[in-house]
Amino acid sequence: MEIIPLASETLGVRSMAVVVKTADCTILVDPSIALAPKRYGLEPHKIEFARQKELWNNLREWAKKADIMTISHYHFDHHCPEEPGIYKNKKMLVKHPKENINKSQIRRSSKFKTALGDLPESVEFADGRIFEFGNTTMTFSEAVPHGTNTRLGYVVQLAIDDGKTTFLHTSDVEGPSLDSQYNFIMEHEPEILACDGPMTYLMYRYGLKAMEKSLANLISIIENTSIKTMMLEHHLTRDLKWREKMKTVFDAGEQQGCNVTTFAGYLGKEDDLLEARRKELYAEED
Ligand SMILES: [Zn+2]
Ligand SMILES: [Zn+2]
Repeated sequence: MEIIPLASETLGVRSMAVVVKTADCTILVDPSIALAPKRYGLEPHKIEFARQKELWNNLREWAKKADIMTISHYHFDHHCPEEPGIYKNKKMLVKHPKENINKSQIRRSSKFKTALGDLPESVEFADGRIFEFGNTTMTFSEAVPHGTNTRLGYVVQLAIDDGKTTFLHTSDVEGPSLDSQYNFIMEHEPEILACDGPMTYLMYRYGLKAMEKSLANLISIIENTSIKTMMLEHHLTRDLKWREKMKTVFDAGEQQGCNVTTFAGYLGKEDDLLEARRKELYAEED
């Protein structure tokens, strides 16, 4: 199995897009890229737009090679109604557009369906289902809350097992702080995890209890499974101080021989938190 992270906050944009290549198929998880419309009251900087364009070009190339595309939920950093062409002739496995979903995502999923038309080879609802392609098994979780509660709707997590390795993509669990999110990870015991970490940049919304729970869950995953690589991303890496806040997780990783890293780190690059540095990007211009 080969894992190729395509876009994320440590690569300078909002996304959790990943390519998973097995002997049987090439899977593109959540192919889309967005920017924070406002951060610190500022619109995206031109450096962020340039990065988004660059990463989209790479994503489009991978889209051509993909057999299967998955959509974990209907936020624009995970699905893109503006570029329906990338989904052409693909087998699509998507979050259910009407069950376990909030109103805003019902509207977006319906617009997405219209944008797709009959471009995809097939579209199947994935919640709680298992799909097999040769020796590759794709298991979707039941819908779990987007974060600590269902205000922002639900997502589906995805475990991909090729018979040798298991990779798991949590989508936007913001933690995981809830048992339903954590249990899916423990059931599948991935060697490689792409995890949306706690939303530390909006602590007033996220809350200390959820933070404690997330830290305990991440440490438990490291201590009680044979995980080798834990990539922490997305909501967490919108915070310049995320590494200090996750110190106990890094320590557990070091003790247990698990590489705690990011999408950028996995690719051998330095983290480049453009959104979190937006204020600086504008200041550097003056
Ligand atoms: Zn989301
Ligand atoms: Zn997201």
